[in-house]
Amino acid sequence: MSTLKAKTKTASLSLLCALVALGCGAARGQSAKSVWVELGTQAGPIPNPTRSEPAHVLLWRDQPILVDVGDGAAEQLAKAHIPIDSIHAVFISHLHFDHTGGLFAFLGMRDQGGGPGRKLITIYGPPGTKAMVDGLRSAMQSGSALLPQKPSDYKVVELSDGSSVSVGDVKVTTVSNSHYLLWRGSGAQPVSLSYRFDLPDRSIVYTGDTGPSANVEKLAHGADLLVSEIMDADTALDELKRDRPGISKVTYNFVRDHFTKEHLTPNQAGLLAAHAGVRALVLTHFGGATGYPDQIARLTKVIGENFHGSIRFATDLDQF
Ligand SMILES: [Zn+2]
Ligand SMILES: [Zn+2]
Repeated sequence: MSTLKAKTKTASLSLLCALVALGCGAARGQSAKSVWVELGTQAGPIPNPTRSEPAHVLLWRDQPILVDVGDGAAEQLAKAHIPIDSIHAVFISHLHFDHTGGLFAFLGMRDQGGGPGRKLITIYGPPGTKAMVDGLRSAMQSGSALLPQKPSDYKVVELSDGSSVSVGDVKVTTVSNSHYLLWRGSGAQPVSLSYRFDLPDRSIVYTGDTGPSANVEKLAHGADLLVSEIMDADTALDELKRDRPGISKVTYNFVRDHFTKEHLTPNQAGLLAAHAGVRALVLTHFGGATGYPDQIARLTKVIGENFHGSIRFATDLDQF
């Protein structure tokens, strides 16, 4: 067995043990610890051979919560030994395809599984989520007709800035962020959400995709763990200039503004963590070449200029 395979097996086994322990602990009324699992750490839209697209699971007692459902989420759940049937709550940060591309497969597989744990699933997300899920369900109709049981019931709850809901004893609060700051499409500006999960043992904030945002800073105030997106804008812009030497100034400036105002540069991620006063920071949602050891060392240094707590860069299936 290669070192990588051995590591993966150990990680999977330890996660399984954690999941079992959470359930057992809950059943016995013992204290339990929440676990945040990074299922996918790669930003879209380009598929990556070693990283799946954005998806995460918050394991708490017997109610795992799926947070974003990027392409490959169902497979990543299987690698993490988390049964699809065990998930009854899904939170979607925004409707960009890298955060929703795995939902069709996730719902379809859940329907076909039909295990004893299968029951109503509630999908939370920004305005537009109901139309998206209804459309997916409609597209499943011909396949679902062959199923021995009815497709699982589902409910969609659309959230907006300041919404708060509870999933068991987990309080979930959301704010709108700045990911669509430069919106130039037709129709109303879409909404992108960041989430705060207040659990009995700790608080976790997930930025989703965002640029610098006072709303997110306030949401993350005092959190134990901040899971933040990151955009290595300098590297990405260098790559853009290298790969498209004839790029127009207008297009270059548009991309630069998108990277630095609708995503978080390392400096901005460090400032967010510092201003919010969080205890630990995990970076995810890597674009382009992000992930090389020398690059991570450089980015960690930049973030550390502002934020002095724990800084970790996630890889797929990492647990925090
Ligand atoms: Zn994204
Ligand atoms: Zn996005």
